Amino acid sequence: MDGPQLLKPALYAQGDDGVAWLNGGACACGHVFFPLQDFGCEMCGGFGVDLTPQRLKGLGRIVASATVHLHAGKGREAPFDVGVVKLDDGPVVRTLLTSVGDAPAPGQAVRAVLVEVDGKEPGQRVRDLRFEVQA
Ligand SMILES: [Zn+2]
Repeated sequence: MDGPQLLKPALYAQGDDGVAWLNGGACACGHVFFPLQDFGCEMCGGFGVDLTPQRLKGLGRIVASATVHLHAGKGREAPFDVGVVKLDDGPVVRTLLTSVGDAPAPGQAVRAVLVEVDGKEPGQRVRDLRFEVQA
């Protein structure tokens, strides 16, 4: 899908079916992680050739969620919803949600999508990762 550039292309990519991919990794021991890193496996300590990039499907379930009503950071309007998502592929990620003031309940199935948001430059638009409730 064409559109504004990705805000953090090292972390995610557009999927063919509207569900975004997350750029994770896998260790030779079987441990799957996100984001991709080369410091070493947090389960077995393996590193180097033991670690390989692995694209993770952006499908999972809500572990916990909350609505943020007041945020100290500049340039982020509240309220917005945040969540902890356990991916079907294994890793648990902290993420922004597409919902606003209506954070989904634990166990709810969600999917990763790329949404247009304001970039750092005036008038700039970029695409960033969010999770939304699966229809
Ligand atoms: Zn390992």
